[in-house]
Amino acid sequence: AAPQEYPEDPEKIRVVVRKRPINKKEREKGEDDIVDVNMERSFVVVNETKLKVDLTKYLEKHQFNFDESLDESVSNEDVYQVTIGPLIHTLFKNGKASCFAYGQTGSGKTYTMQPLPIRAAADILNFLAKPQFRDIFLHVSCFEIYGNKTFDLLNSRKRLNILEDGKRQVCVVGLKEYNVEEVGIVKQLIESANQQRSVGTTAANSDSSRSHSIMQFALKTGSDKLVGKLSFIDLAGSERGADTSDNNRQTRLEGAEINKSLLALKECIRALDSDARHVPFRGSKLTAVLRDSFLGDQARTVMIANISPTNVSVEHTLNTLRYADRVK
Ligand code: ADP
Ligand code: MG
Repeated sequence: AAPQEYPEDPEKIRVVVRKRPINKKEREKGEDDIVDVNMERSFVVVNETKLKVDLTKYLEKHQFNFDESLDESVSNEDVYQVTIGPLIHTLFKNGKASCFAYGQTGSGKTYTMQPLPIRAAADILNFLAKPQFRDIFLHVSCFEIYGNKTFDLLNSRKRLNILEDGKRQVCVVGLKEYNVEEVGIVKQLIESANQQRSVGTTAANSDSSRSHSIMQFALKTGSDKLVGKLSFIDLAGSERGADTSDNNRQTRLEGAEINKSLLALKECIRALDSDARHVPFRGSKLTAVLRDSFLGDQARTVMIANISPTNVSVEHTLNTLRYADRVK
């Protein structure tokens, strides 16, 4: 196929919804697919069954419009083409781009997010092979925010500190970066980060659905000057933000932190498109770490809202769609 043509300057904020297919287990349990996606006109309809006081059922339809609405037939390559693909060239012009996967646990965040860095690395390394980019290098790092702590996923879960320097630049101190020259290495780094995600922590209920994982690509010159940055964020399960009345204190604290970070994230993204005076970067670790990616003319954000198809998930699905709707 001919190389895809991308617009010169993609929008600052793009919101994309992706519905995952109903699976065998759900089918066997007799669950219904209640989500309709109209890809052409880019909207999603959730058909919610509700009960009246007299216990008769009625249907309530909820419609949401997005920049891109993707149904279960869409491939990961298609997702790349409408999310990260158009942003690659801005990275070479001082661009800072971030791509988030938001949604409840089991909605397809990791399935969606995991292939994106590999695919992006292929495009980036193609650029870097050109003579005019001979002095630019791709550095890859990966870390996790769990509760209010940060861990290096490419360095044995080393505990990391986050510092703000005199120029209000936030820096993750001691984060390990790999200079990558082959796509295959990115794949290996993702696999090894996966193995280190929320394992080996002492918390009895340690669980990757309670952490945000962040993979970052930094394009740097040989003299270590930053040219562009691309972040892939697989967010904590959105339903975890509601764990605030759990019996377990640790779970409750983690829930509160997740809730805080997802709310702060929404506000920081919204501020990209307005001239908001106060942007709550400091509202959470997540937004503090990504601060520089929200600032400046070359900041771009893609929010991918992942949703499950079944009636069982309807409440979480509606919450996800409402969140995504308010981001822009
Ligand atoms: P999350 O990271 O949001 O908890 P996962 O990405 O782990 O969810 O997805 C849950 C399950 O659904 C996994 O088994 C995954 O392979 C499957 N899945 C998710 N999205 C899709 C998709 N678009 N097509 C096929 N399978 C999918
Ligand atoms: Mg996941």
